[in-house]
Amino acid sequence: MTQTSTSATAPTALPYLDGDVPLGTIPSADLLPVRNPANRDEVVGTVALGSADHVDRALDLAVAAAPGWAALTATARADLLRSAADALDRHDPAARAVLLTREHGKVRWESTLDVGGAAAILRYYAGLAAEFDAEVDHRNAAGTARFRRRPLGVTAVIVPWNYPVYLASLMLVPALLAGNPVVVKPSEVTPLALTETLRILAAALPPGVVTVVPGTGSVAGTALTTDRRVRAVLFTGSTATGRTIMAAAAPTLKRLGLELGGNDPALVLESAMIDDRLIDELVRGTFTSSGQVCYSVKRIYVHRSRYAELVTAYTEAADALVVGDGRDPETTIGPLTTRSQYDRVRALVAEARRHGARVRTVGRRGTTAHWERGNFLLPTVVTDAPHDIALVTEEQFGPTVPILPFDTDDEAVALANGTDYGLAASVWSADASHADTVARRIEAGSVFVNAHRLGASDLAMPFGGAKQSGLGRRHGFVAVEECSELQTIAHVVNPASLPGPTVAAPPTRPSPSGRKEQ
Ligand code: NDP
Repeated sequence: MTQTSTSATAPTALPYLDGDVPLGTIPSADLLPVRNPANRDEVVGTVALGSADHVDRALDLAVAAAPGWAALTATARADLLRSAADALDRHDPAARAVLLTREHGKVRWESTLDVGGAAAILRYYAGLAAEFDAEVDHRNAAGTARFRRRPLGVTAVIVPWNYPVYLASLMLVPALLAGNPVVVKPSEVTPLALTETLRILAAALPPGVVTVVPGTGSVAGTALTTDRRVRAVLFTGSTATGRTIMAAAAPTLKRLGLELGGNDPALVLESAMIDDRLIDELVRGTFTSSGQVCYSVKRIYVHRSRYAELVTAYTEAADALVVGDGRDPETTIGPLTTRSQYDRVRALVAEARRHGARVRTVGRRGTTAHWERGNFLLPTVVTDAPHDIALVTEEQFGPTVPILPFDTDDEAVALANGTDYGLAASVWSADASHADTVARRIEAGSVFVNAHRLGASDLAMPFGGAKQSGLGRRHGFVAVEECSELQTIAHVVNPASLPGPTVAAPPTRPSPSGRKEQ
């Protein structure tokens, strides 16, 4: 874990057209080092910050690719998506997982899951091609009609830093299956493993179908979300940026798919069985990826009669966490990915302390962690906190969690729903029927029972936010539907059956004056 050398990966220094073909050169002033959050002295690679001009060129290429890609059946596109998945499997996914751990900080099993998601998602959506190609026949007195799906057109995919490959693939692949060319903008915080993935994927598809323009949100992101040629924007990120994108897209009425932030509650009911399994699931749900997952447990509400028991068991279990470099096998959670996130989480915990909350710091430092050089934070469990502090009301996206008591189911539901967010939630109970009744009252896109973590949702389970946690759904065929629109083609063979009088003019005859009669 002492590696501090620079291994700038030259290919990632350019925005890519597809495969290895760059969109253009980048002035050195617009190259940004990507640093390892476990050791900020270590430069992992270099990212080029694409300009509005690069976006313009990428869009030209996407527009040129659009007719050919749309003309294929989804079944033919699916064959190419499967080839892309095979290419990703052949090109050393383990190396991309290591790269991701170095740029993001997450532990190896998570990087493997994140990187491996691309091939899995390509194969999953390839399997839905027949559903896309199926056309619906309709008959009426006037004739026949067919309802078919057609692509929207050039689509922009804007990616957050926390699960870059997996989340990019969840947006990109349904759009491709539906026949849209896609321009992807990675986050400049974690662009490397994603750009490598997309280089391989794009090379397996016709030119211009997938282009990549790394860059900042304010430049490359704005260029994409305001350009008339972009018909749809698929975005995963914060609610604040989602609002900005919605406003930017309004003048050209782009279709939007927004997966945004959450403040996900876990409700431990009076009927819960507080055993090792529950505690293990709850701790994992909170601290996996240092809490930097959109649907991490962000608030825990426990029935007052079980509060002390839960807090004790949970705190003891969380104390086993080992914070360190994600490359070290002893590490269970890595550093915070960005320094600004590290500062924000510390400020939230400090504010909770100032308001009289009890803060227990748990876990231990990994033996090989360069503690002062990384964005490392030991987890904290916060109890006896008021309900209105920022740690409870806002999304923390870090390894700290408030645990609060409630007295009735009604109160628990009101607390869970007392937020503008509505991404996910969990209900914990030994009584499945009781849990289900409570789950149905929660305003969230997904509610898990007796679990709340990565993997609790699979690709067939629609996923997305209620309220200000987003628009639309990812996963399943619904994601393909949202990247396409229905077209009706009506063949009218019997116009006489249509309503309304005949308006065709009667045959004209010449008047004695030689003028046509009206
Ligand atoms: P941000 O909203 O800060 O950024 C997401 C992406 O948007 C980045 O690529 C960013 O570029 C870009 N961006 C920023 N400003 C603009 C703009 N004006 N126009 C276009 N693009 C822009 O989110 P984070 O990357 O910080 O991700 C964390 C957030 O994402 C959390 O709130 C989390 O809950 C949410 N999230 C939601 C998920 C879900 O499924 N609902 C899943 C994962 C995360 P830049 O490179 O400049 O940052």
